[in-house]
Amino acid sequence: AETPAKSPGGSEATGVKISHPDRVTFPDSQITKGELADYYADVAGLMLPWIARRPISLVRCPQGRARQCFFQKHDAGSFGKAVHAVDIEEKDGRTEAYLYIDDATGLLQCVQMGTIEFHGWGSLAEQVETPDRMVFDLDPDEGLDFGDVKKAAEDIKQHLADIGLTSFAMLTGGKGIHVIAPMSPGAEWPEVKSFAERFSRALAQAEPDRFTATMSKAKRKGRIFIDWLRNQRGATAVMPYVARAREGAPVAAPISWTELKDIKRANRWHIGDVDTLIERANGRALAGWGVADQVLPDV
Ligand code: ATP
Ligand code: MN
Ligand code: MN
Repeated sequence: AETPAKSPGGSEATGVKISHPDRVTFPDSQITKGELADYYADVAGLMLPWIARRPISLVRCPQGRARQCFFQKHDAGSFGKAVHAVDIEEKDGRTEAYLYIDDATGLLQCVQMGTIEFHGWGSLAEQVETPDRMVFDLDPDEGLDFGDVKKAAEDIKQHLADIGLTSFAMLTGGKGIHVIAPMSPGAEWPEVKSFAERFSRALAQAEPDRFTATMSKAKRKGRIFIDWLRNQRGATAVMPYVARAREGAPVAAPISWTELKDIKRANRWHIGDVDTLIERANGRALAGWGVADQVLPDV
């Protein structure tokens, strides 16, 4: 019998054939498409509770992250059978097919199509009008210290707790932190968006030197933009354990509030840390991460 040139990676468990596994996806760190697929196969069990059955957008970089990447929202019918479509009504009344997956095979079929990043809606495909999470995406101005971002995340966590909401932190793998408040689906998008906007504007108004709730880069000078716009219908946020199409293949990583205190950067872990990520996910610090049975407070 022929011995395979490379030891079979975890991705083979799904039965998804990865073409060009030796093609370099991350030129800066020489990480290949095959290695990326193995990473996703390894973390599929950790990712699926968050990403499964959620409309998703994909960052696809068929020629690797250094070449052209594109954001894909809609089903073009070219993915495998485990990548499903859900019809969602657009603002103008037309219906568009969005993508969702519900297993490791679907995840790997996306990777086979050149996907690096997976971004999800704040609601599930079967109840698309009622979000199950709210996210405050903290976007620091260039040159701001990561310590400032951590402080902002902790303050937001505290302000949310003051109004009865439990929240969780995730390092994006890029520059910032996402503060995530899970919710039992109930309130619809306009209500959730309005809540997130009012909450963010109040923080910016109280501490204008630290925060802005306005997208404009000019207003961000030396501040952190609390990006509440992730909380509108159709917006997405990067999902836990997603590999980012950035230098060094960093990963979006859930983190406990206690652990966050010692973290120095949002790209702390990368796909080479997969064993650590899995160990962490199953450890005490992250037990219960991302889970809270709560509804939007009446404020
Ligand atoms: P960072 O910590 O570096 O800000 P991030 O994932 O939060 O990482 P953002 O630029 O703040 O990156 O984007 C927030 C979210 O907005 C993304 O996670 C993604 O889901 C969505 N997004 C970003 N770029 C696009 C795009 N071109 N089209 C649609 N949605 C996008
Ligand atoms: Mn961000
Ligand atoms: Mn943002």
